[in-house]
Amino acid sequence: MKKSVITHLAVMLIAIFAGGFLSAFLIERQAEIINGGTVGKAPLGGFNKFTSDVQWMLFVNYAGSLRSVQKENVKEIYQRLNAILDNDPNLEIAYNVGGMMLSVRDPLKAVDIFTRGTNNPNLKDNWKLPFFAAHILERYVTDKDDKDRLKKAEEMLRIAASRNPSMPYIFSALMRIRGQRYKQKGTWNNIAVVNDRHAYLCALFDEWRKNGGQEGSMGGEVTVDLKPMLLQACQRAKASAPDNKDILKTVDKVMKKVLEDQHLCLRCLAAYSAGDKFCDQCGNKVEPYGVCVKCKTVLKGAYCANCGHKK
Ligand SMILES: [Zn+2]
Ligand SMILES: [Zn+2]
Repeated sequence: MKKSVITHLAVMLIAIFAGGFLSAFLIERQAEIINGGTVGKAPLGGFNKFTSDVQWMLFVNYAGSLRSVQKENVKEIYQRLNAILDNDPNLEIAYNVGGMMLSVRDPLKAVDIFTRGTNNPNLKDNWKLPFFAAHILERYVTDKDDKDRLKKAEEMLRIAASRNPSMPYIFSALMRIRGQRYKQKGTWNNIAVVNDRHAYLCALFDEWRKNGGQEGSMGGEVTVDLKPMLLQACQRAKASAPDNKDILKTVDKVMKKVLEDQHLCLRCLAAYSAGDKFCDQCGNKVEPYGVCVKCKTVLKGAYCANCGHKK
């Protein structure tokens, strides 16, 4: 699939997601107006809350009247959003919908909106705000717009991961961004960083070392099992450039430190079973293990089932 198609799909999915948010929000407000006659819950914010609700309604109307988000109207969208958020900094939907609206035409302003929400201590459980900020910094903001974009994206993902540690794809995104930063630098432990897959492997290996060879912690209580991720990252890095000496050096390092106890084909890094003499993935000769020293039958227990030799 072309990259632009994937980006469009991602934007569509996010829009559907945001639309769901919007309708849930409006239904809730509708019920409040019908049942109570007043808008908003007074103790929460009093008059400012009421003002922001009205502003938000007007904004939704305004947004609906726009044929598309263009250069000419991003400034007004941005100003309206900030006015709403000045009155009600806790209005999560305004960050979500507003940030998404701005993301393509003015990604820096979109990042600004999502970062504003991320930094609001009342929304400290919301992991989507920093996650979207990072996504836009990575995909839409260029180095020319902001030379620190990757550093900022990494920080946003770190926050998102600490707010939702059980989500593996936030962790993967964090590793990807860290890898991008290594790639930008050009080297990692005196090894040239060759491509994205190589960079990702380096970041993952550093995370494993940082955790003392244990699972990744991401700063939260739920952990990520790094070993299978490292194996897959090695396989992908090697497949991306099988003869590149920098990648081979890195893979070798990871194999020795992390994957030594696993029986892997030296050519394609696929795992093979006890008794195998050749890799069933690439046909490469492999060193057999788990067989009787006398008759080479695969061992199932303490004694060889073929010749009775003790293991
Ligand atoms: Zn193989
Ligand atoms: Zn035997």
